[in-house]
Amino acid sequence: MKTVYFDNNATTRVAPEVLDAMLPYFGEELYGNPSSMHAFGGGVARHLDRAREEVARFINAEPDEIIFTSCATESDNAAIRGTAEYYGSGLRVITTAVEHPAVLQPCRRLKALGHEMLELPVDGTGQLDLDQLDAELAKTSKGSPTLVSIMYANNETGVIFPMERISEICAAHGAILHTDAVQIAGKAPVDVKKVPVNMLSMSGHKFHAPKGIGLLYVRRGTYLKPFLLGGHQESSRRAGTENVPYIIGLAKACELARLGMAREATALTAMRDKLEAGILATCPNVRVNGDRAHRLPNTLNVSFEYIEGEAIAYRLSDLGICISTGSACASGSLDPSHVIRAMGVPFTAVHGSVRFSLSRYNTMDEVDYVLRELPPVIRNLRELSPFGPDKDVTTF
Ligand code: PLP
Repeated sequence: MKTVYFDNNATTRVAPEVLDAMLPYFGEELYGNPSSMHAFGGGVARHLDRAREEVARFINAEPDEIIFTSCATESDNAAIRGTAEYYGSGLRVITTAVEHPAVLQPCRRLKALGHEMLELPVDGTGQLDLDQLDAELAKTSKGSPTLVSIMYANNETGVIFPMERISEICAAHGAILHTDAVQIAGKAPVDVKKVPVNMLSMSGHKFHAPKGIGLLYVRRGTYLKPFLLGGHQESSRRAGTENVPYIIGLAKACELARLGMAREATALTAMRDKLEAGILATCPNVRVNGDRAHRLPNTLNVSFEYIEGEAIAYRLSDLGICISTGSACASGSLDPSHVIRAMGVPFTAVHGSVRFSLSRYNTMDEVDYVLRELPPVIRNLRELSPFGPDKDVTTF
């Protein structure tokens, strides 16, 4: 059975070009430690420098503003907890209700430690009220620091936040702005000169580099304590011997994304829109979740009312189709997604939300396959469901 992989917001296939670029660093000539004094290590250090330049170019940053990390979870934690350690207990933290746990959990930890912390709500389309952000920042007394951590694009719905405007608001109030840019990477341009955030996190495995490599951009003049202490790597901002093969892979993925993004975004939008139109045309009682006008080109989140997203994902998995649900199966109970709930999606639709997320390796034929296989699955699950508009029980 062939695999149709429509779960690219969870992780992506490593690009063959990325793998080719990495392989020499596992071989006998390029395994040196870039911090070594000898020429063997120094040769590797020069490749590391070039990789840093390529990664910086991807987001229009300076090379010394890039810190390589192990993943975006580390980058998010380093940004949020490192800022809190630098400023101490007076730091106020503002984030949103729809962040990834890699941001929400460190922010909640800071709240538990006594920091003032606020999670901004979103509206029915998953968008923020920027007047509320402005008003909240206006409340901060002069001289006391505020860290704002707002994601660039949502991993579940693909909703893109207006980061340029958010950065202007934060700058006007002197707030420090961190953005989790994990999901926008490779799907739409990111330019830290046009959108002057203080810190930005990305993860290689979301755009065709391997799992286990991330980056944290830190604008010159932004202060934070290092998350990992030890050696002098990354200018003493992240100790630990650099993961050279993966950094080389990340740089190649950045180069591929930089060169191919515009073309790929057009192809992704065409496939995503065909999938969306096909589902809406063939399946009744379906709603698209999230702001359709400001959305990643590859992401479609839909709720099939009266049935469970998990059941849909399992049935499609049997047909070789990989998708995600927003729900997490926690301690035996099905927890609806915090993102979909924050958007106030009606209860009949919350549990039936699923995410399709595409990449450059998907094809229109795969979209057609899903459009053929999905409607009978939905019809069958609806027949089996005790809930429905014409059944005795209309809600969960
Ligand atoms: N932030 C967002 C928005 C994500 O989607 C993810 C992964 O799904 C992460 C952070 C965590 O990334 P990593 O797997 O690199 O730790």
